[in-house]
Amino acid sequence: MSTQDFDLIIIGAGPAGCTLALKLAPLGIRIAIIEKEIFPRDKICGDALSGKVLNVLKRLPDNAYTDFIHMVDKVPSWGIRFVAPNLNSVDVPFRFHKDPEQPAPGFICTRKVFDTFLFDRLKTHSNIHIFQGEKVICLDRTTNGVQVDSISHHLHGRILAGADGVHSIARKFCNPVTTDKKHFCVGIRAYFENVLELHPENFIELIFLKSLLPGYFWIIPSADGMVNAGFALMKGKIPERKESMSSHFSHLIKDHPFLAPRFKNARQVSKFEAHTLPLGTFDLRRSGNRTLLLGDAAFLVDPFSGEGIGNAMASGEIAAEVLTNCFGTNDFSDETLQLYDSRIHRRIITEFRTSAMMQKLANSSLLFNLVVNKARRNEEIRNMLTAMFTDEDLKKKLTRPGFYFRVLFK
Ligand SMILES: Cc1cc2nc3c(=O)[nH]c(=O)nc-3n(C[C@H](O)[C@H](O)[C@H](O)COP(=O)(O)OP(=O)(O)OC[C@H]3O[C@@H](n4cnc5c(N)ncnc54)[C@H](O)[C@@H]3O)c2cc1C
Repeated sequence: MSTQDFDLIIIGAGPAGCTLALKLAPLGIRIAIIEKEIFPRDKICGDALSGKVLNVLKRLPDNAYTDFIHMVDKVPSWGIRFVAPNLNSVDVPFRFHKDPEQPAPGFICTRKVFDTFLFDRLKTHSNIHIFQGEKVICLDRTTNGVQVDSISHHLHGRILAGADGVHSIARKFCNPVTTDKKHFCVGIRAYFENVLELHPENFIELIFLKSLLPGYFWIIPSADGMVNAGFALMKGKIPERKESMSSHFSHLIKDHPFLAPRFKNARQVSKFEAHTLPLGTFDLRRSGNRTLLLGDAAFLVDPFSGEGIGNAMASGEIAAEVLTNCFGTNDFSDETLQLYDSRIHRRIITEFRTSAMMQKLANSSLLFNLVVNKARRNEEIRNMLTAMFTDEDLKKKLTRPGFYFRVLFK
């Protein structure tokens, strides 16, 4: 079998891989994207698309954002409802003032629909070669690039992008580090119909139950009146538990005082499915050996919210900036690729410091109850929480301990 030559090979056609391919396509370089599944494919997820996803869509070529707003089946969401372990709740809108003329600040869209929307856009570029249903099984360094093999294809690229999710083969090739389980959580979800008392503006509900802290149970309204419900748990907590995640789920929706009344008429319409989230508390080198790591392969899931799609897409954008420079100068050295690490740090990892603090705070039900109680009574704190979702500068200020002091003792 002969080897096909490319400038860039991307493993994985999820949000990270598609964003990188779409951003670099206008350069005219030969891009291969190799994906083990066949689209449309599903992905286990809560299906919540934050403002960060929308901002990246706005910067993608060929009116991606406008097409998403007008053509994609989805549900608009206007905020988040936090429910504390004592079952008090606080509503945090994504925007201070709702303007019904403007598209919503967030959306809920099944991954089958959203990922296929991105994937289909690849087909409009003649310089993007798509290999579907092809699992990459072997990677080798050559003198001038990387050899990428599946069962039926041999590809060679001047540079490799690993956008192949949490169990990334590219990560083992780029930087074979071992990780502690404290940097992973596991999420389980299923779809339901007839869940009662959904928020009229499709607020995403994050319910911080004592048995799951610092993880939470979510109720996310989906298209056609369905609900995506699930919970996430730190991986280290799983062996402590006597029952499986799916039976804990069934017990929660049957017996928990907050959930049982909501699910009393509900019908489960999909099986329980679980998957791992690699949290951004783990810092690793994300470049080297002619490879860049993107999205989940690079541990870019927010440790508090579990949001990963926006960061995966943002890493695709950052990789595109750095690689534009590499192709221009024909320099793919480890030193030059390190620019990718520093930009990922500046644009994504600094935000995770706030989230890691919130994750610690959420570990204590007493503190969490206190914050929600304060926020219920204090408009300034509610506004600050809203700004956390909308104001990138404020997010950085929130890494300062003074913020938490104000929240707790004001
Ligand atoms: C239960 C759960 C709920 C979540 N909820 C949300 C949410 O509501 N909002 C949010 O923003 N994030 C959520 N996330 C996180 C989000 O799903 C991920 O962060 C996001 O999918 C990362 O995108 P990615 O492109 O890096 O990887 P992926 O979306 O995982 O895509 C990787 C692709 O690589 C392919 N691949 C893997 N190995 C190979 C191989 N060897 N050869 C070829 N192809 C390969 C896979 O088939 C896949 O298509 C959730 C995650 C979980 C587990």
